[in-house]
Amino acid sequence: MQNASQSGTNGTPISQRVRALSPSGIRKFFELLYTMDDVISLGVGEPDFVTPWRIRESAIYSIEKGYTMYTSNFGLMELRQEISGYMNRRTGLEYNPANQVLVTVGVSQGIDLAMRALIDPGDEVIVPEPTYVSYVPCVTLAGGVAVPVPTHMENGFRVRPQDIEDRVTPRTKAILIGYPNNPTGAVMPRRELEEIAGIAERHGLFVVSDEIYERLVYGTEHTTFASLPGMAERTVHLSGFSKSYAMTGWRVGYACSHPEIIEAMMKVHQYTMMCAPIQGQMAAIEALRSGDSSVEDAREEYNRRRHLMMSGLNRMGLACLEPQGAFYTFPSIKSLDMTSMEFAERLLMEEHVALVPGSAFGPSGEGHVRCCYAVATEEIEEALERIGRFVRKVKGGS
Ligand code: PLP
Repeated sequence: MQNASQSGTNGTPISQRVRALSPSGIRKFFELLYTMDDVISLGVGEPDFVTPWRIRESAIYSIEKGYTMYTSNFGLMELRQEISGYMNRRTGLEYNPANQVLVTVGVSQGIDLAMRALIDPGDEVIVPEPTYVSYVPCVTLAGGVAVPVPTHMENGFRVRPQDIEDRVTPRTKAILIGYPNNPTGAVMPRRELEEIAGIAERHGLFVVSDEIYERLVYGTEHTTFASLPGMAERTVHLSGFSKSYAMTGWRVGYACSHPEIIEAMMKVHQYTMMCAPIQGQMAAIEALRSGDSSVEDAREEYNRRRHLMMSGLNRMGLACLEPQGAFYTFPSIKSLDMTSMEFAERLLMEEHVALVPGSAFGPSGEGHVRCCYAVATEEIEEALERIGRFVRKVKGGS
């Protein structure tokens, strides 16, 4: 390590971009969690199911057959063809697997690549808030400036198109949206997405649309942003396998867009990552070929748990909207006199239940906590019991 006299500005070897990242509001808290027993975690946004057997089997078989190499930087052609076919079946969009589909290391990498491909220093990216934790850091790391647009419970946590338009400046380059939403569970109706499309068109903006939860919607329709008229050209569509197919550890996602954007993303990808892991890609091929029924089974199970969680929280006085997608509830704790971090820390220490303080998703998440319901029913029941006891205790003044 350099000493201070050798280092850059302000006596630190760390770059300004990395220093500009806010420390994660939940890291300290999760470090504490790992030292404790008997904790029910509603904290991590991860399916509790293992990857369906047929998908695992195809990956095992691929290893037996010796598929252990790099793939094309774009990803296996067979997988890109499956992704293109899947997008076409669901949305009517036609993405050429040769130059409009890029296989990424999860949607996480897709977000990073999209930002690095589109953003010049000082470019502004409009981001609805509460926001998934990596959006703002990815904008910052790309040299851009994230411009948050608060969303509110009274409006179902949907972003108001007018609020986006009000924040457009000559430096605005893109809008980064993620619906169904993490952490709020909000889904945007087609009509409102069309208004956002109109804003993008009028101001010449790009839209990066993270649709990782596209398959997990309840009693409503998901609209693929790129499928709106005129949007395929100016949208980077991001999705992946982690949530729908319970494949978080396989690290596979994909980006679909205009060939020029995909080429730019691929350029960054080839120098920094090379390719997504081949076993993950093999598994993803099988997921797209035979995984539909397992997605539907998981969705039905999440739907049951969603009702259980939502009604339990509302009953104990933590007002909770009906989340229409993903697998999170985002109840209000405003009736209690404490911050979301205090709530989360005390709940963990006193009742051994972990959830995520809303402030981790930006200032407008304050006053809420995120509870993930991709957790076994018995654990949700036990967690609700413990949260209820905690809320009664806080309201009783201790
Ligand atoms: N986007 C959203 C909205 C997420 O909630 C997550 C994971 O929690 C990701 C992206 C990252 O997904 P992946 O596992 O594909 O990198």
